[in-house]
Amino acid sequence: MTKIFLVGAGPGDPELLTLKAHRLIHEADILLYDSLADPRIVAMAAGTCEKIDVGKRCGKHSASQQQICELLVASATTGAKSVVRLKGGDPMIFGRATEEMAALDEAGIAYEIVPGITAATAAAASLQKSLTKRATARSLHFLTGHGAEGGLPAHDWVSLTRSGGTLVVYMGSKTLAGLAAHFIEAGMDPGMPAIAVENASLPTQRVFPATIATLPRLLSATTTTGPVLLLIGEAMSETDIATAARQLETAA
Ligand code: SAH
Repeated sequence: MTKIFLVGAGPGDPELLTLKAHRLIHEADILLYDSLADPRIVAMAAGTCEKIDVGKRCGKHSASQQQICELLVASATTGAKSVVRLKGGDPMIFGRATEEMAALDEAGIAYEIVPGITAATAAAASLQKSLTKRATARSLHFLTGHGAEGGLPAHDWVSLTRSGGTLVVYMGSKTLAGLAAHFIEAGMDPGMPAIAVENASLPTQRVFPATIATLPRLLSATTTTGPVLLLIGEAMSETDIATAARQLETAA
């Protein structure tokens, strides 16, 4: 009986895979991976493993998500012993795992979820900044900057701002200008520390330290090609601007 594993691939650095993910990738007969998967991780699969790039990219989710679900179900009927569906970061955080689990449930196929290191904790580690801080950042909020309809989702901007917690925005680089405007309108201090991290955990990582008011301009003046995570809140203060500036210079 085939078992499907929905496996978190972490943020990119292959060493941030769990031992379980590493073993499962190595043992997989079929590996389905998406655009965030690092090639070095995909290369861990055996030579005999059928590797399928399902190339899911931001903005083109709905059409291809259905196909991915169908492909997953079809993979289970091939007689393969182990099918690994590799997902960036953690499968349960903005990973469309719900749809894939529903499709497998409906087809009566057994599956297991293997957690991975999510972009937020990878970025915090790189920045050497705790996402929570006694007295200043008592809660942590993971938000998407990209709603099902394509634009900015209708978050409760006032509650999020009042919470005083650290706000981590996934898929937010394209909607950042609107996002910042909503937060400032909701009462956020325009000087609130806000940092964008591109390619967290990879050698190509770039850090853009700014404030909620200035980050949109800083980011739109740069071309980013990798995934970008936004981190907003008091916990992001005291950024070593000189270090970040050096990183920017090196990358240029
Ligand atoms: N399941 C993933 C998130 C998928 S949504 C996780 O747990 O990390 C895709 C978004 O994740 C990207 O738009 C970006 O905001 C963020 N992301 C994923 N990997 C990243 C990385 N290495 N660096 C920065 N952001 C990343």
